[in-house]
Amino acid sequence: MSSEHAAQAIRDAGVCDGLDTVVNELLATVRLVDHHVHGVVSERVDDATLADMLIESDRRSATRAAGFDTQVWHAVRRWCAPQIRAPAHAAAEDYLVARRAYERLIPIGRLLLSRAGFERVIVETGFQGGRVTSPAATGEMAGCPASRVVRLEAIAERLVYELADPLTWPDAFRAAVAAELAGADPAVGFKTILAYRGGFDRDLARPADEAVASAAVRWAAEVHAGATARLTDEALLRFGIWTAIDTGRPLQVHTGFGDPDLDLHRADPLLLTDFIRATEERAPVMLLHTYPFHRHAGYLAQMFPHVYFDVGEAVHYTGAASEVVVRESMELTPFTKLLFSSDAWGAPELHLLGSWLFRRAMSRVLGDWVARGDWSRADADRVVRLVAAENARRVYRLPA
Ligand SMILES: [Zn+2]
Repeated sequence: MSSEHAAQAIRDAGVCDGLDTVVNELLATVRLVDHHVHGVVSERVDDATLADMLIESDRRSATRAAGFDTQVWHAVRRWCAPQIRAPAHAAAEDYLVARRAYERLIPIGRLLLSRAGFERVIVETGFQGGRVTSPAATGEMAGCPASRVVRLEAIAERLVYELADPLTWPDAFRAAVAAELAGADPAVGFKTILAYRGGFDRDLARPADEAVASAAVRWAAEVHAGATARLTDEALLRFGIWTAIDTGRPLQVHTGFGDPDLDLHRADPLLLTDFIRATEERAPVMLLHTYPFHRHAGYLAQMFPHVYFDVGEAVHYTGAASEVVVRESMELTPFTKLLFSSDAWGAPELHLLGSWLFRRAMSRVLGDWVARGDWSRADADRVVRLVAAENARRVYRLPA
């Protein structure tokens, strides 16, 4: 699928409506590296399952309580409805009817992803990876190459079954991490969900191998006795993170807003300050999504040379209000430190909205600054290219 196909869909929809027409055109045509995204659900979904995917809460009761009265549903009705030949702002019930009818003819995932305008997708497979398309299939739908990042906790949760002698955990885990960087389809980085496994308000120093080995013995015994392999052991979590840091490859750290499996007050990236100091000059630390702590992330990105961040899924979840989030994300950060991600999972509506709402917000924010004479058009041009793709290409060492 050509990039012109996506650009024309973006122009036709009137996505970029800032005050400067040159900036608008740039944001309609620039292709985005989505540096953290997931696949699209493979099976045909019923309405309730789709609704569950359009809310961050993992409680179906929360989905029911919210109904369609959320920013993300307003955005789906505004932007996705016309893509499936329903009127903009169609009632949610009508959208669902139109979606079912459309999907009988054309897979809606391919339709929406091909209009997002991605240059590359960097896919993470750790969350219910079996239910969604693989990195390669996701890229194929989007009409672009795909790369992958590997969730460290998923490596551990596999290894705990595979390893005959848990005392060998340190070397075995290091080998498993190294193996992800080798072969025909090497990973471009790692990801940790420490935020979901106790949060950041704890000691994050590197543990000694002996402590790691004894923790592995304890955990393996629990798992072999029938416990679910869900890594929460502090020494093993820290060991995973430090093993990834030692590779020098980017480490994505989920921070901020996430489902209620995390405690939001323990997911503020400022709580990582000591860890960030300790990892300086070792590996890039990519603070994922960060909302509502995106201003904290901007501060950290200015203070520390190896810190980068995005506002990820906050863009589609804040919908028409996302312009404010994007504007606030651009206060303190050097523009070489801000990246685009959608963090879309499952519903392809989220992949489209991640891209389109980000373009719309950037067109308004940068368009304002250009129209008022605070920035030149050349400034806006450079910053769009950095944030859209160049920062990700440089940090993850991607081909252009
Ligand atoms: Zn994610």
